[in-house]
Amino acid sequence: MQSPVDETATGISCTNCGYNLTHLPPGECPECGKAFDPDDLRTVNRIRANKSTPARAVVHALTWLFLVGAIGSVVVIIITELFWPVLSWFIDS
Ligand SMILES: [Zn+2]
Repeated sequence: MQSPVDETATGISCTNCGYNLTHLPPGECPECGKAFDPDDLRTVNRIRANKSTPARAVVHALTWLFLVGAIGSVVVIIITELFWPVLSWFIDS
């Protein structure tokens, strides 16, 4: 016998595309349109509660910092390139 879906401890995801369906009403997956029922475990995948270790949290934070830094650098470069005529005008004056 299977215990009912405990949404506080675990979530559910689409069996077709993996989209997170937690807290969504029964219906169709917003991502791929596959019909699902949160109470029918044949139509959804259970997501185990993510027990994050400190090391994993650090890696996660560093990954985000790297991504934000990389994207931020690219944005600054693009803005600088686009607005360089304006910026140089301000710098020169
Ligand atoms: Zn889906």
